Amino acid sequence: MSTFLAERHDSFAVVVVGGGLAGLCAAISAARGGARTALVHNRPVLGGNASSEIRVPPAGAGYHTPFAMETGVIYELLLEDRAHNHDPVETGMANGPWDLALYNAARAERNLTLFLNTHIEEVEVADGRVVAVSGCQLGNETRWRFTGDLFIDASGDGIVGAAAGVRYRVGQEARSEYGESFAPEESWTHTLGNSLHFRARDLGHPVDFTPPSWAKRFDTCPPHRPHQYFAGGYWWIELGWPRHTVHDNEVLRDELLAHVLGMWDHIKNRCPDTREKARTWALDWIGMVPGRRESRRFVGAHVITQRDIDAGGLFPDTIGFGGWEIDDHTKEGMRDLAKKPSFESVNHWLFFVRPFGVPLRSLYATEVRNLLFAGRCLSASRLAFNSLRVMVTLGALGHAAGTAAACCLRAGVLPAELSPDQIQALQQQLLREDVFLPGVRNQDPDDLARTATVSASSTAPFATVPDEAGMGLPAPLAQIVPVGTAGLATTQVFLESRASEAREITARLYRAANVWDLPAIERGGSVAKTKIVVEPKTTGWQTIAWNLPELPAGLYWLRLDGQADVVWHYTTETTPGCPAARFANERWWFTPGPFTRWRTFAVGITPDPVAYGPEQVLTGVTRPGEGTNLWRSDPAAELSAELTLTWEEPRQVASVQLVFDTDLSRVNRIMPPFFHAPECVRDYAVQAWIDGAWQTLCTVTGNYQRRRVHAWAPVHTTRLRLVVTGTNGIPDARLYEIRAYGPQPAGD
Ligand SMILES: Cc1cc2nc3c(=O)[nH]c(=O)nc-3n(C[C@H](O)[C@H](O)[C@H](O)COP(=O)(O)OP(=O)(O)OC[C@H]3O[C@@H](n4cnc5c(N)ncnc54)[C@H](O)[C@@H]3O)c2cc1C
Repeated sequence: MSTFLAERHDSFAVVVVGGGLAGLCAAISAARGGARTALVHNRPVLGGNASSEIRVPPAGAGYHTPFAMETGVIYELLLEDRAHNHDPVETGMANGPWDLALYNAARAERNLTLFLNTHIEEVEVADGRVVAVSGCQLGNETRWRFTGDLFIDASGDGIVGAAAGVRYRVGQEARSEYGESFAPEESWTHTLGNSLHFRARDLGHPVDFTPPSWAKRFDTCPPHRPHQYFAGGYWWIELGWPRHTVHDNEVLRDELLAHVLGMWDHIKNRCPDTREKARTWALDWIGMVPGRRESRRFVGAHVITQRDIDAGGLFPDTIGFGGWEIDDHTKEGMRDLAKKPSFESVNHWLFFVRPFGVPLRSLYATEVRNLLFAGRCLSASRLAFNSLRVMVTLGALGHAAGTAAACCLRAGVLPAELSPDQIQALQQQLLREDVFLPGVRNQDPDDLARTATVSASSTAPFATVPDEAGMGLPAPLAQIVPVGTAGLATTQVFLESRASEAREITARLYRAANVWDLPAIERGGSVAKTKIVVEPKTTGWQTIAWNLPELPAGLYWLRLDGQADVVWHYTTETTPGCPAARFANERWWFTPGPFTRWRTFAVGITPDPVAYGPEQVLTGVTRPGEGTNLWRSDPAAELSAELTLTWEEPRQVASVQLVFDTDLSRVNRIMPPFFHAPECVRDYAVQAWIDGAWQTLCTVTGNYQRRRVHAWAPVHTTRLRLVVTGTNGIPDARLYEIRAYGPQPAGD
């Protein structure tokens, strides 16, 4: 066959195919790890389903569990976007500045070459390895061939692995296959459907809408499909079965478009609830690229299943985590409006998806030895996939795939050949890059901070400020309270009684292994129990006497049982490291509930538990876990605040890594436009004690990122300090971690 296309070839250490959030994070982390990396993407903009072409808002584990927001490259991208974007994070709202934030991030990496508009359609395999991938680039009449040492399939549909002969699955496994309690008796082959989104805008004057003749007609409101909010929508305009979500993509696009325009016609012209409100609204953007939820899932070295989720996913090769609900949809979608679009027999409301580890083995193939997976094609049963398939989670797992690729290249091995020591080194590298790994803490032998003692100019006492709002006690409520080495004398709770008689409240304490240990309350077995009486029509602090000086230090759930007319007030700000819970529908839930900013109840603790001391920055964990893991300076003391590392013998220090608090109980969806987390340190300096004086090594103003790395020519010192002079809103300085490194290795 003759072709007039220009033929070009390039060779890379890592070739990533697919520039969704998983592929982008994989490419950035591989490039930062020193690998010459290509990111080959068949669209003009990055982000996949999250891009302005499709406009799905990225979500992750933090939506269902407080302090469970994924961090690392994906979080960096989200904070960068929120700091500069004028639009909210909502279905249909992703815009050009978001695309640009992703493009900028790729352009910023000197080891990363971006090939946009390049569709991979050929995969060469030899001796059980991918040798090259090839495809056409739109707009320049060029056919590219990319050779590489390692390949990462981040194409969503798993196009590289499938073409290379990696085994894959489509559809739902039967219960007998993996022993998953939520799996059906019989397997099926259909998948979640595709969707098209839209965005609408208020023009400020009446505007008509006449649908095309081919639009669907919805004379009445489709049940279970709320459309009161119509600035952007709707995930539930979903169609798949009986069509094939890949091969029938064009037909589905036409059908989806007919549904989108039909729904807009309903909102504008037919719906009694919206047509007046929508009179001045017009469609501003209509998706033409269907978002695809599901197609192939590879069968890799380990298939992560619901059983792993139930067990907490503590693997020796954990490289990331998930924590979204098991989110299945009905196969009919818009074809059967009587059915709810969400498949509610298999979701979070029935059982609690605690953040669970994901192993490296779920990210690589066995048949093809130099291929890693990033994104929804990873090796998971369909139930586990339905929890892992959200983009903040997949972004963090993509980050792990990229870092794993870079580690393999440095070690000169393939993913399956990594030794236990090399896997531990990979985990330590991921922690260093701010990827959270359940059950793994910083043990980096190069981190000089681990050999230092730490002190601070001040420490915040445990204190909460009651909000006006709260939650009634028709069902029990609970709040994590940290207890220090001096035990527990009293707790104070801020209650409002609306009753006309005195109310008796029962208080219990349960030992919690960590901030996510809701099962501790479910298991029962309180360590202490007492009662208080709340006088009628009163609002204020109530003291609960415990008199437990020997109570071991750690986290406890303080549970209150009372009556509906007694309200436990929330705090004005979420208390770091101290989630709250409520009992509803036969189980405990974090409060107020998914998709919100997680809140805490107003509580005081005597004696002060010293929950935010400077030693917290050296626990090796950079979010709440078995403790708060957070240093806070005393908000009553003026900034500046200092945190100092001291070594007995001088050290050569060439770089520092800081992890600030940005409140991981606040998910990206509720970060408004132009957002800087108020908790985040904004202005600071790093100084070293040299020749009897503090010498400034770097100064930063205007920071809004959680993780910052600074390097300088090596200095010889016994003391290094962080001096915080300003935050983005709050009066205290907060820090999860400080690391210090000598001249070797430089790293990032
Ligand atoms: C309508 C809808 C609503 C959803 N709701 C949410 C939500 O609210 N929050 C959330 O987080 N997730 C949501 N999801 C799920 C989420 O969007 C997907 O699971 C996720 O996008 C998968 O990420 P990925 O990187 O694997 O794939 P994608 O985001 O699809 O990215 C893969 C990219 O690879 C490119 N590609 C494919 N083949 C090739 C090739 N041959 N050559 C080069 N490039 C190629 C594709 O163009 C694509 O852009 C939703 C999905 C849909 C469709």
